[in-house]
Amino acid sequence: MMHAPTQKQSMLGQGRLSRGRVAQCTRKSIRRSCQVRAGKTSTGPRVAIVGVTGAVGMEFLQILKQRDFPYSSMKMLASARSAGKKVDFDGETYTVEELTENSFGDCDLALFSAGGSATKKFAPAASDAGCTVVDNSSAFRMTDGVPLVVPEINVEAMKDIKLGKGGIIANPNCSTIIALTAVTPIHKAVGVKRMVVSTYQAASGAGQAAMEELELQTREALDGKPITTNIFPRQYAFNLFSHNSDVDVDLGYNEEEMKLVKETAKIWNTKDVKVTGTCVRVPVMRAHAESINLELNAPLTVDEARKLLENAAGVSVIDNRKENDFPTPLVASYNDDVYVGRIRRDISRDDDCGIDLFVCGDQIRKGAALNAVQIAEALL
Ligand code: NAP
Repeated sequence: MMHAPTQKQSMLGQGRLSRGRVAQCTRKSIRRSCQVRAGKTSTGPRVAIVGVTGAVGMEFLQILKQRDFPYSSMKMLASARSAGKKVDFDGETYTVEELTENSFGDCDLALFSAGGSATKKFAPAASDAGCTVVDNSSAFRMTDGVPLVVPEINVEAMKDIKLGKGGIIANPNCSTIIALTAVTPIHKAVGVKRMVVSTYQAASGAGQAAMEELELQTREALDGKPITTNIFPRQYAFNLFSHNSDVDVDLGYNEEEMKLVKETAKIWNTKDVKVTGTCVRVPVMRAHAESINLELNAPLTVDEARKLLENAAGVSVIDNRKENDFPTPLVASYNDDVYVGRIRRDISRDDDCGIDLFVCGDQIRKGAALNAVQIAEALL
């Protein structure tokens, strides 16, 4: 039996906000909420979760339940390896079915998180069957005609897609979603000319098996045992390394870095913004951190930047210089907002056209499952 993943939170000390912060964030989320609350209802869409046994798939279930997403039926899909497993959702137990081309005839909405190759194979079949797909993989992100959407930023990009009428909507890469949720309010105000992003990416971004390997390696390292390396080709515990995606040998950039470059251009619908990045895996279980340097088209003071961020949907500011209190992955873990701090003028410049930020976001939630569910809510 599989349960949506809350069990390890207390063990890993994650997801804890101070009481003051909890109150602050709760008020904010209520103010911004545009959810359609219903849960199981005969008028809701027929929903399929594709890749339900994975890290993002399990998170889909958590978020759908937490937001009382309306649905009339639910179908749990994964590979043949998982067929027959049981999954609990909203008081009912479902049997996981093998994903096939014929899985979608009785579905209006499919939330996909099954990796690029399964998506390439099965998402078009779902769309052809009249089921609208929201996909977390990179399979169709850069395909012309496929909207690449962060609802707080460019929900209008998906205006031609109707629920239950087919179509594919892509979720951007997790690092892109987290960076742009924070930076877009500044971009909309004064325009970003150039963005330099350095990421500190958690194990969970590489899926359930990567989290398990980090935990195992940590125990092995502490016990002085040989280190198991099944997921990454080197020791991860007590180490960090350049992102594990393929490196372009001519450019020297890895795929994760190029996603930041290309997806920013598509989401902001501009080729004028220059983007460069360095993506690194750090031995954090959950939630990515990013250091972001912005070169702006017009001057912006720190106070103006802070105000823009404080008023931005999906953003919480933690920026206490006196207490040296800024966002951390643990604060961001299991929370919806992207947390921004270290808001400061870039002192390497002679003008006021440079801002530095430090950003943390739970990439399984806002970087994947939550963003997809927000897209589905917008479809409703
Ligand atoms: P994961 O934990 O490894 O889970 C993968 C899921 O896909 C499992 O349910 C697996 O089913 C299923 N699957 C794999 N091959 C399949 C196939 N041929 N047919 C049907 N189901 C198949 O990975 P994840 O982290 O959840 O990531 C899933 C997708 O979301 C990936 O494309 C990833 O790039 C993207 N994404 C992940 C994150 C993140 O933070 N983790 C963020 C953004 C985007 P079995 O259990 O049966 O193998």
